[in-house]
Amino acid sequence: MRTRKRRVRDAFGNWCDARDLEGQTYEHLSAEEFALRREEMRKRQPKPCKLPKRGAFDPFQLIQCKAFGEERQEPFRVIVCAEALVVVDVHAHVSMGEVIGLLGGSYDHEDKVLRICAAEPCNSLSTGLQCEMDPVSQTQASEMLGVRGHSVVGWYHSHPAFDPNPSLRDIDTQAKYQNYFSRGGAPFIGMIVSPYNPSNSSPVSQNTCLLVQEETGSSGTQKLPYKFEYQISLEPPDLTEVMRRAEWVVFKYRHSYGSVPMERLYRSDSSLTCLEKMLTSLRTILSEIPETETVLFQIEALFITHFIDKQETEQASGSSSHLHEQFKLFPAHTFTTSELMDSSEVLDYEEMCSNEEQSIINASSSDKGFNSSSSGIQDVAGKEVNIPLVPSAESEY
Ligand SMILES: [Zn+2]
Repeated sequence: MRTRKRRVRDAFGNWCDARDLEGQTYEHLSAEEFALRREEMRKRQPKPCKLPKRGAFDPFQLIQCKAFGEERQEPFRVIVCAEALVVVDVHAHVSMGEVIGLLGGSYDHEDKVLRICAAEPCNSLSTGLQCEMDPVSQTQASEMLGVRGHSVVGWYHSHPAFDPNPSLRDIDTQAKYQNYFSRGGAPFIGMIVSPYNPSNSSPVSQNTCLLVQEETGSSGTQKLPYKFEYQISLEPPDLTEVMRRAEWVVFKYRHSYGSVPMERLYRSDSSLTCLEKMLTSLRTILSEIPETETVLFQIEALFITHFIDKQETEQASGSSSHLHEQFKLFPAHTFTTSELMDSSEVLDYEEMCSNEEQSIINASSSDKGFNSSSSGIQDVAGKEVNIPLVPSAESEY
């Protein structure tokens, strides 16, 4: 017959097997003494990790851009070709995480005009806390721009579901780039695109072109972001160049973690799917340029055939096409997105906000607006993209 284990309380009042206490000094404690011991134990337990207090330096706080005006004149004008805007906008729409790339163009020292003619999407490296431009991809992108006769004149990244204002980290990165490139006398701008900002009721993506300037005030020298009122060039986009980049984006992101389900409604109060929303945004970029329907049609066909269909039918393989690999243009199809898709599902902004690996910020925070304080700091929390301090690839320019 098995003997029943004798249960006793240990020194801290917890029930345990009497044999576990054999050889140990056994204290007989009263109820009050037990209570005191328990209290001591609680005090000795490790304290929960404290989160940084609001007001402490937060590299992910967004700073509202200042406008150039009488106080501070625009140092140069910015003209952006539709081709660059289309590529940046397509790239930003496919990922719930931040995307990143380089901008190519030229600077006219005499007229003080910066022309941004092309955008080259890059791979990003996730480092847990932030995304950085993959150096190999960055080198390839620089070379591609060089082959087409462009200099590297800027970088872009997306704020998927929050305002297109730079974070403190963005400002720091931008300032370092400007210092680096100013050695050659050419300007270097930053572009931020926000495709799915809940506070933007328009399907047209928000886009900010900015520069960082230093200002000395009573509290010392500050780096402040200034926003350009850029012009869109009437130069028609090169269909082949646009499609090659769109194809790279489609093949890279269609199976990637955090790719946007383009067949879903982009918000609950809209009848547009994410794909239709993107096409509306692109149509607005191209609105002043004649005969651009082919570009839109090709992009739509590419997404329906090789992004949406593949997202639904193929298992995520994790593989992606190599950067700047040549793709054949796909034949156009004769259907529209609204005919094909009947989805009541809406893009999940919560998902866009809680993804740890994809550098996503809390979308609800973008509704809070800026504080009325002079700092213009927005109360947001999230992760950011960052590009290497000194770009190795651009040193050739
Ligand atoms: Zn940013």
